[in-house]
Formats: sequence, structure tokens, C-alpha cells
Amino acid sequence: MENLRVNVDQNECIGCGICAEMCPGVFALDPQGISDANTSVVSPALTSAVRQAAQECPTAAIKLY
Ligand code: SF4
Repeated sequence: MENLRVNVDQNECIGCGICAEMCPGVFALDPQGISDANTSVVSPALTSAVRQAAQECPTAAIKLY
């Protein structure tokens, strides 16, 4: 099974912080208050948390592929 990959579209992120709260192992707000993923390949242990964060993101800025 291929690993999930994640990217945050920083033009769509409004910096609400939900993703960083739900999955701090992957998401963190940068100094501008915009979310960034610290990895593109999600480890299997974090896959469901990342999928959930993507669903909760109010602007659908979290892209999974
Ligand atoms: S949940 Fe979405 S809008 Fe909120 S900080 Fe994360 S990427 Fe940005």
C-alpha cells in the first residue's frame, strides 16, 4: 500500500490551527500563522489523524494524494 502524501495550500489556509491541534506530528503554524506540513509523506501511524484534519479544515487547504 502506498503511503499517503500531504500538502497544505498556503494560499487557502486561514491559520485557524485546527490541523496543528489535531495532528501536531505533521502540521505546525509557521511564523506567519499559516499551516505547513513538516513532511510530505505521512507515516502510516498518522494517516487517520491527517485524513481527519483534512476533513475538518474549514477551507479544504489540506491536500491529500
Ligand atoms: S485546518 Fe486548514 S485553515 Fe486551519 S490552519 Fe490547518 S490548513 Fe490552515
